[in-house]
Amino acid sequence: MRKLVFITILITIFTACKNQKTIATGYQGQGKSAVVSTLSKPVQKQWKGIWSFEDDNLFFSNDFESGRLNGVTADGDNHYTALITAENTPVNVSPWYAFKVWSNTPKMITIKMTYQDSRSRYYPKISTDGENFTPLDSVNFTVLNKGTGTFGINAAPEFVELKINVGEKPTYITAQELYGSTRVKKWIDSLSTKNYISNYEIGESREKRAMNLMEVSNGTYKKAVLVISRQHPPEVTGFLAMKSFIETLTGDSPKAEKFRDNYDLFVVPLMNPDGVDNGNWRHNMGGIDLNRDWQDFNQPETRSVRDFLVKKENEGYEFVFGADFHSTWDDIYYPIDSTIIGKKGDIVFNWIENITKRLPQKHTNIKPSTEITPTMVSRNYFYVNHGMPAIVFELGDNTPRDFLKLKGKVAAEELMDLLLE
Ligand SMILES: [Zn+2]
Repeated sequence: MRKLVFITILITIFTACKNQKTIATGYQGQGKSAVVSTLSKPVQKQWKGIWSFEDDNLFFSNDFESGRLNGVTADGDNHYTALITAENTPVNVSPWYAFKVWSNTPKMITIKMTYQDSRSRYYPKISTDGENFTPLDSVNFTVLNKGTGTFGINAAPEFVELKINVGEKPTYITAQELYGSTRVKKWIDSLSTKNYISNYEIGESREKRAMNLMEVSNGTYKKAVLVISRQHPPEVTGFLAMKSFIETLTGDSPKAEKFRDNYDLFVVPLMNPDGVDNGNWRHNMGGIDLNRDWQDFNQPETRSVRDFLVKKENEGYEFVFGADFHSTWDDIYYPIDSTIIGKKGDIVFNWIENITKRLPQKHTNIKPSTEITPTMVSRNYFYVNHGMPAIVFELGDNTPRDFLKLKGKVAAEELMDLLLE
């Protein structure tokens, strides 16, 4: 008996230390979202084109999907300064950039990256085809005026300098991998060659881009899972985990087949096509953070998903699970607190636990929310208005890409197991 008490105390101390350590080093996530108006605001539409430095025989361009470059100056000696500004302010500190550079005479240049009221959050990715990206070699990356904080934007440098070998073939320099609306549509079209997958428009964005929905349906089971992603344009790592998640749910494994024999799946992979294609830091072209618009529905992108869900419910559908994929400084889960959601949330918490068991190599913080009204964010709307157990699934900006893929796959497998129990 005494031995048991002693062990219990030891375990308690150990657990307390462990929690302490998590608090000291882990990302605890953001606080409650402030209530803000989501009525449209003016947006600065970016000038698109080519900056030609004829004397240097050097060219910059932002004229492609997701491009963002707001100005360049030539400083002499193959040194250039790039300016990156936001679509409007105030805006979250996620300074997205994407441009290409080329020259008819191969040489090495230095580019100093500067940002409007922000710091250098995203480590540069390099590509020559716009599809395959690698992080810039660290020997070509210099931090100027490094951050004083230990985490988040305060830990990021104010400026950075990149050394780039330029040649005739343009080099893409981007904040994250490029997944504009064309590339995303190509992906859903490639999946839609399977006879149980289709995709169609459920609405249009403010600039009349398609709001594409992918439907995975093998019959009509009237029980469905909903997945959305990219409300926030730079959050590509969340998109990549979502992509792997969907590829697993739609794959050829016996488990996935069984899942599809019991459930339908609806996916909106690109919630903010205007923001993504315009290279915005955060907002849609109404100048609004879409993930604050799930109460008032002032923006067409959120309205299209709301109307779709209402229509499906009128057809007799029950949504049994919802996930909204995002990216932030580190991996984190934002479920609805169990004191609010009760038994209905068990599937979410069991799911988190099962994923964690299978992926012990990387710690993921969990921050349950107790505030669900006004709904404002997608997860709250899904639960409050449609009774859907839902979660915000956040991946880190720098989470290794092979791990993102693995996590998406494991998350899909564990969800299928729980839904098929
Ligand atoms: Zn986000």
